[in-house]
Amino acid sequence: MCPDTLNLSRYTRQTILPQIGKEGQKRLLNSRVLCVGAGGLGCPAGQYLVAVGVGELHLIDDDLVSESNLQRQILFSADDIGKSKAETAAKKLKSLNPEVKVKGMHARLRAREAVELFKEYDLIIDGVDNFSSKFLINDAAVLSGRPYVYGSIFKFEGQVSVFNYRGGPCYRCLYREPPKSYVPNCAEAGVLGSVAGICGTIQATEAIKVLLGNEKLAVLESKLLVFDAANLSARLLTVKRDPECPVCSDRATIKEPFEYAEKCNAENINLDEITADQLQAFPDAANLMLLDVRESWEFRRGHLKGAVNIPARDLLSGKIPVDKFSGKERILIYCSTGERSRRVAVELTRRYPGRISHLKGGLESFDSTLVLEG
Ligand SMILES: [Zn+2]
Repeated sequence: MCPDTLNLSRYTRQTILPQIGKEGQKRLLNSRVLCVGAGGLGCPAGQYLVAVGVGELHLIDDDLVSESNLQRQILFSADDIGKSKAETAAKKLKSLNPEVKVKGMHARLRAREAVELFKEYDLIIDGVDNFSSKFLINDAAVLSGRPYVYGSIFKFEGQVSVFNYRGGPCYRCLYREPPKSYVPNCAEAGVLGSVAGICGTIQATEAIKVLLGNEKLAVLESKLLVFDAANLSARLLTVKRDPECPVCSDRATIKEPFEYAEKCNAENINLDEITADQLQAFPDAANLMLLDVRESWEFRRGHLKGAVNIPARDLLSGKIPVDKFSGKERILIYCSTGERSRRVAVELTRRYPGRISHLKGGLESFDSTLVLEG
């Protein structure tokens, strides 16, 4: 954009700030930002970045708008349910400020193209809600030499930092690997809608300061802001570079970004699995409910003695209330092969942690001498 032809009147409320001025505004108008994720964080971050006048904002997201998004993803209305988040957000942002080139890419960020894609931008915004994507963004940002503004929300809490900026640490310096144990996501644990707004707005503010490059404005590099809206408190933690960081240190082993196995969060549950032999020697059998999740016609042909039959689809749809399980402390879930029952066991472990066991290999893993009740 040619500076001489710029119309800066739209931005006078910020160009009169000495830390920005017309020169700062021109820098913003010449900047390119990529926002990965057009949801709870991407919506508010995108709104402010477009309103303050970055040159280009591109959004990448392969998700569709659903009803449960509307309490926090404030660019979308009820009419948008079922539409592409990235494309819908881009359309709304364009009308907010037609001077900004906004593009929505209805796609998933892929490891093989992430580094080349990131190189096209000055800065990356992290608006994703899962660990696999956060590590992918981090690694691609480090390998492409781009700063990125991290954001994360959970229940009433939010976290923000600027990683890979001016020699500061990266996300892997803080968390080397995704958590091994099961961590519920926002869909399961919940999140207050306005917390997404606070977090995304702070991300936009940090992004603007990075793009301005004014050293008088402190940026959240080497710092992690943790705020808790439940009691309106905030802490600023120091994050140091990890000299052994697998991606940003001299000893880096990660030379190209990759995607962690695309497992649903639920699959990361530590499922308690027992074998047929272990079941036959189960120490507290009187306190064990055997739950057969096959169809009723399969159950009638033969089942483990004393088993209760509730088909998998009824359990997964949530039709069966909790009190159905009263009485027995532990519940062993099984089917013919262990496939159907595994899905149910994962789901019920989430609902009743510590009470669910799964029969590995299903009934087929029993030897033929086992007496089935018909
Ligand atoms: Zn690092």
